[in-house]
This record gives sequence, C-alpha cells and structure tokens, in this order.
Amino acid sequence: MERRKFLNMRKAFVFLLGLILIFPSFGLSDNSKDDPFVIKVKPAKLTPLKKEIFSFLEVNLPEFSKLNDQIWSFAEVALEEYKSSEALASYLEKKGFKVERGIAGMPTAFVAIYGSGEPVIGILAEYDALPGLSQAAVSYKKPVELGAPGHGCGHNVFGAASVAATSALKEVMEKHNLRGTLKLFGCPAEETVVGKVFMAREGLFNGLACCIQWHPSSENEVSLASNNALNQFEVEFFGKTAHAAGDPWDGRSALDAVELADVGLNFLREHLKPTARIHYVILNGGRAPNVVPDYAQAWYYVRDLDRESVEKDYERVLKIIEAAAEMTETTYKINFLSGVHEVLANRTGSEVVYSNFLLAGPPLFNAEEQSFAKEIQRNLGIEQKGLKTEIEPFRLPEKSWGSGSTDVAEVSWLTPTTSLGVACTPIGAPGHNWAEAACAGTSIAHKALLTAAKVMAASGIDFFTSPEIIQKMRQEWTEKRKGREYKSPLPPELKPPLKSQKK
Ligand SMILES: [Zn+2]
Repeated sequence: MERRKFLNMRKAFVFLLGLILIFPSFGLSDNSKDDPFVIKVKPAKLTPLKKEIFSFLEVNLPEFSKLNDQIWSFAEVALEEYKSSEALASYLEKKGFKVERGIAGMPTAFVAIYGSGEPVIGILAEYDALPGLSQAAVSYKKPVELGAPGHGCGHNVFGAASVAATSALKEVMEKHNLRGTLKLFGCPAEETVVGKVFMAREGLFNGLACCIQWHPSSENEVSLASNNALNQFEVEFFGKTAHAAGDPWDGRSALDAVELADVGLNFLREHLKPTARIHYVILNGGRAPNVVPDYAQAWYYVRDLDRESVEKDYERVLKIIEAAAEMTETTYKINFLSGVHEVLANRTGSEVVYSNFLLAGPPLFNAEEQSFAKEIQRNLGIEQKGLKTEIEPFRLPEKSWGSGSTDVAEVSWLTPTTSLGVACTPIGAPGHNWAEAACAGTSIAHKALLTAAKVMAASGIDFFTSPEIIQKMRQEWTEKRKGREYKSPLPPELKPPLKSQKK
C-alpha cells in the first residue's frame, strides 16, 4: 500500500516536471501547486496605448450601453436581425469604417473595415435573440411580450462590446498611425449555427492574421476548451393518405417512417462512441389519427468530438433513415441545414487575452447589481451567490464532451481565434434562460460590455504591434490542424435558410 502511494506520488512528480519542461516560461502559481492544469500568466503591462483604449471605452460607455439596450429591446431571431445589424453597422459607418452589408447571401450579415495592409485582424460580433425568451429587465420571470423572442444568450451584449472594442482600436490606430487592417464581422444567426458557416464558405475569414471574440458568461474566464462538431438536418417523408380504419392497406404512413427512423437511431446509440450525441424533434407528424399521414418531418442534430467523427456518425444515421423509408414504402428528402467543426483553441493567443484580462480586471458589480442577481437566484431556486467577481485561473483543458456547438469553430479553422468569457449572468443560472435575458438589459450587461471591450481591444493592440505573437499563434494553429485544410461542411449549392426560402 505504502509503496503504491509512493509510486503514485512519483508518477505525479514526473508529470509535473514534464509540464514545467514543456512550458518553461510558466511556473505553477502559488495557490495552484497541487493543480497541474493551471498555467501561470502574468498581467499585461499598462502601456500608453492601452491606457488610451481604456479611457476611450470608459468615456464612451454610455453610447455603447445604448447600443446594448437597443439590440436587447429589438430581440430579433436568427436571420431576421434587421434593426440590430443596422444599428451596429451604421454606428461603425458613422465612425469612419467602410461597411459592406448583406454579405454571404444574408441581408443581416456585414463587415466593417478600417485601415490598410498587414496584419488584418478580425473581431466577431453576434446579435441574434432566442425564440420564446422575451423578458423584462426585472429579477423575476416576466416576458415583455408572451412568446416573443428575447436575449437569453446575451448576444446583444456580445455585439455591442465587440463594436466598442473595434471603435477603441480604430481610435488608437488612427491617432498613432498603426499599420494594419481592422475588420469587424457582423455575424447573424449564431443560435441556429448558420451565420459564420456561410460566411466561412464565402471566404470572408480568409487572409486574417488572427481573430478575437468573446461571449457573456457566468464566469470571468479564458478557456482552451473545444466545442462539439455538428451536422443538423431535416428529413421529410412522403407517403399516401387513406382512411385509417376503412382501408389502411391503401395508405403509406410518413409518420411510421419518422418513428422507425427514431427507433433505429436510438438502437444505433449503443454502437456509437460515447462522445456522440444525437437529438431530434418531430416537426410534423400528421393532422388527424383517422387519416394515414402522407407527410411527416423531423429535425435532427448529430454531434461528436470532431468533424471526422460527425461525418462517420452522419453516414450511419443516413442509412437508418433510408431503411425507415424502405420499411414503410415511403420516399424521403434530406434538407441539410448546417454543420460545424470542433473549435480549435489557440493557447498562445489565449495567454495574451488572459494577460489583458488580468490587466483590465473583472467587472466591478455594485451592491445593487449583486442583490439583483441574488434575487434572480432566489426566484430560480438556486444558491444565492450573486455574480462572479474574480477571474478564473487559466487552465489547460481537461478531457470533456457533451458540450454544445458554435459556428465560431469555422473561424477557428481559418485563422487562430481567441475566446473570452465575462460574467454577465448570475452564478448557477441556466443558459438560454429568462435570467440571462433579464441581466442582458441592465447595468450588469454594461459592466460586462466594458470589461470585454477593454480585454479585446488591449489584446488587439498586442496583436497589431507584436508580429512575433502572431507568428507564434499561427505556428501553433498550423501544428494543430495537422495538414487538414478547411472544408466547408455545407453542400456547395446550399443557400442560407432565409425566411423567404422556407417552405
Ligand atoms: Zn450565445
């Protein structure tokens, strides 16, 4: 027993030593000696340029908060963000950016460009709301309009903060004649995993030295974790109606096909790797029990750790759907909706972002904001811990699966891309929830916006002024891709699912 303990200790010591040898520039932080996954990063220095960035953002915060609140009240869902995208695009246009609207076949996608030459650095903005999550800026569940959309993922804050960071960077670049091109990408339809996938297929993210983005969160963190790759599609089955009691033998049920496909998929789960995730809803299962349904429709998600695995799972899923049609003597049609890769995290770039997070500090919530968050937690029936006030340690990712998917993944395959999470929602509150929508319309969101913009703009300064950082980021990115080139998961003929194209 004692000897085994010793061997285990020896193993742990060798592992730690290995980590220190692999990452010689970082020792282990004082409070994390027993946590080999924590990476010590020093705060970035407050250079004169960053000082200017911070004060520009503080002075102009009321303008950016106004943008935040406008988009929050528009609460427009995927590919219908007309007012939201216009608010952001016209703001940047007025500030001297060249704006191109309606890109990649989506009226609500845009790019705002400033400067010229290398390096070209991108910042992502999102602004779509979620259906059914309408919510007033109060600490209890209260829709502004029952059943209407709401910002339950805080994308209004996302968009406003990214535009703030971009404006601050432009201000400093102009004043100090910094070389390079700044591009803000107005990315619609993140919630349906659509916008950036079509923008990527169009080549809009090509030629970027790197890309910066963030997301509202309950934590203050820079994460190296990935997200699941995904394929999503609809299946329509076509059969023949008949009287369900009088002459059912003359009918061919499209609903039977959906049910048999789903039974088959549920049996398939046992023979997929445990990392696979399949989920579905039936969108149309017929109109009346006494009519054999000649039409049925279902919507499927297939997720897995990486693109390769999703493609393999997807092939097997298609076989089952085909077999279901065969069994029921129906025909079927697959409508491929969208697909994404897994996110490629970039450690070099993330360290730069983290060091600027330590410099800017977490959002400073006041007592009123903390009690608003605690009131929400009380109403949700969860522990009243308020809002996060510290920055999480910077950690190597542990193996995990079962996460959602994001179209930011596509950008991360086209250029080194950094992520950042800033506290904007109460600790322990569920995602895509009224609580998040409520906070996104208050001063809690304005503070998160300020922090996110400071960290992104300060990181942007480092990327614009340190070619050696970009070089290291790109080297890491090239190694991670292992020779794999980006291939769009979308069929070449597929168009964005605009309302006018929907059946
Ligand atoms: Zn989101």
